Amino acid sequence: MNAAVEQLLLPAECLLCRNLLVAAESQRIICGLCRTRWRPVRPPWCTRCGQPEPHFGPCRLCDGWPGCLEAVRSAVWLADGAREAVHALKYGALPRIAADLAAAMAPLRPPTGAPSVLIPIPLAARRERQRGYNQSAVLAEALRGQWSLPVQSLLVRVRETPTQTALTPEKRLANVAGAFAVTSPGVRRDTTFILVDDVFTTGATLAEAARALEQAGAGARSVQAVTFARAAIPDFT
Ligand SMILES: [Zn+2]
Ligand SMILES: [Zn+2]
Repeated sequence: MNAAVEQLLLPAECLLCRNLLVAAESQRIICGLCRTRWRPVRPPWCTRCGQPEPHFGPCRLCDGWPGCLEAVRSAVWLADGAREAVHALKYGALPRIAADLAAAMAPLRPPTGAPSVLIPIPLAARRERQRGYNQSAVLAEALRGQWSLPVQSLLVRVRETPTQTALTPEKRLANVAGAFAVTSPGVRRDTTFILVDDVFTTGATLAEAARALEQAGAGARSVQAVTFARAAIPDFT
């Protein structure tokens, strides 16, 4: 559906609070007030995985990640309105909501001195057919306009992974092992690859995607990742 048709079919009210959207927000799905209610993920955090829990000794969450995965940041906590927004992006057939989510991710742009490309985390082909789109690709497209960086669909999901709920970080890493392949052999060492996903839970998916890039072509040396939301994960210690 193109944006103009989608605009005609949508009521001009905020998806979350149902208040009417003012003219200046007519391109939005979520009103400004609801967006200010999203709770930003703030430091202090582990400089690598961005998890703001206090750490004693090495960080257990990112300990097993491949060396190329340098930093992961998320915009807001997966709570309240942010959870509904992710749900609408994923299941509500509302890909245009990605612009609102990407706006909240604006401050996450990694500072890189190298040429950078955005890489959406792919869905398994069957799931993408069912949904009609990949929510991470839609998010990456919205960030492309915002950050003036190209999007490359370098990764494919070569196997579907069972649902990860209630797995420890170690089990999640094992669960996604070998899930991704790289479509182009032209992975250059001098490029910074910025993975884009909707939600960060333990980072296992991002770590596995980074591993695939590290092992492809000349081998990625610098991978960063950004997600819209971060789930508060249970304490596994
Ligand atoms: Zn609202
Ligand atoms: Zn960490």
